[in-house]
Amino acid sequence: MNILTLNCGSSSIKYKLFDMPKERVIARGQAERIGRADSILHHEIEGKAPFTGEQSLSGHREAIERLLNHLIGPEGGILNSVRDIVAVGHRFVHGGEFFRSSVAIDPGVRETLEACRNLAPLHNPHNLTGIDVCTELIPHAPQVAVFDTAFHQTMPDHAFTCAIPYRFYEENRIRKYGFHGTSHRYVSSRASELLGKGREEWRIVTCHLGNGSSLCAVRDGKSCDTTMGFTPLSGVVMGTRCGDIDPALPAHLVEALNIPLAEVMSILNHESGVLGISGLSPDFRDLESAADGGHARARLALTVYAYSIARGIASLIPAIGGLDALVFTAGIGENSPRMRARICAFLAWLGVELDAQGNEGGVPEIDVSRSGSPVRVLVIPTDEERLIARDTVSVLGYDGEMSTGERQRLSPEAVGR
Ligand code: ADP
Repeated sequence: MNILTLNCGSSSIKYKLFDMPKERVIARGQAERIGRADSILHHEIEGKAPFTGEQSLSGHREAIERLLNHLIGPEGGILNSVRDIVAVGHRFVHGGEFFRSSVAIDPGVRETLEACRNLAPLHNPHNLTGIDVCTELIPHAPQVAVFDTAFHQTMPDHAFTCAIPYRFYEENRIRKYGFHGTSHRYVSSRASELLGKGREEWRIVTCHLGNGSSLCAVRDGKSCDTTMGFTPLSGVVMGTRCGDIDPALPAHLVEALNIPLAEVMSILNHESGVLGISGLSPDFRDLESAADGGHARARLALTVYAYSIARGIASLIPAIGGLDALVFTAGIGENSPRMRARICAFLAWLGVELDAQGNEGGVPEIDVSRSGSPVRVLVIPTDEERLIARDTVSVLGYDGEMSTGERQRLSPEAVGR
């Protein structure tokens, strides 16, 4: 059965079409620069030449419409009709305290999702648009929301409570939520599988190191603490985000340096992190080659980042009572042996011992620790879409025995094949 996964951002939409339960990706692609005259559409469809085209996309509706047309169209298409899409799974960034797991979207759930809109004003409104556009364009297909925050809802209150007056939690739900939950859930569960069934309670810290970076302490498959907080600005140092800083600093920038608050927030979100320190780039490949060429602030930025991640890892250990394994994932975690080595060098005292040759590996899903290292170190490519597709199937009950009604509804005749 074909399951479409959608990740709707402010100016981009990424999609994958899965053949489930085989988990085979039969099409993938993205629309970028939505809302501009020079939007880019990119599609890769199994067995066909990749397609990249520039065309104006006025908004998300048009982008999803074009994407569907491409999947169905006579040239690049792989589907006979839109009815070949059995269900749609959406990445939904912030589900607040309302959602502890993925959920099928019905009118009641849609209303609750609306109540979450302002929890993540940069993300949730676009996720909601994606849902509404699919309701209009793929009306027969049930939809599921898979939340970045849901995995972290198992954190105990001592981990998620902010030390500000408690009324802000009671009245305004201000607390630590955490993000990247789908990625942390995917790689921690994969790590437990790879580490084997011998230990029931693997104590794992997962390191999602991409443009946004966060760490998560996982015990027995559950998130016990994480580094991001009320927003994805906090926690470890990132590409352009500052991570944890003195909370009085924004007020100082406003009051002492007369920078408007909106500009301060933009600086902390878009001009800080390794970009801010290096003055060069948020891209770690650029920083590595500049550092190799003697650029002192690129070198400083890389070390600040590595130290911040190592501190973050150490800070999470009380949440899980020890450390059996570290998992590196996302763009930097998967692709930068040098950054992994820098981070692990700060953690040698903890029993983190890398195998220098293995760490260069370049193989997906690899144990890069020295044999006998007290802490295993794994590199596992993240696959949030796969988890979204799996959740979509299981939340809708399509993975178990289907009821007669469901079987009829999903029969080839019913879905128009
Ligand atoms: P996103 O959070 O947008 O999904 P990714 O997980 O794709 O981001 O990670 C993007 C980051 O990965 C970029 O900062 C890029 O510098 C980094 N990256 C990708 N490949 C490499 C590499 N070979 N070496 C170092 N960093 C890399």
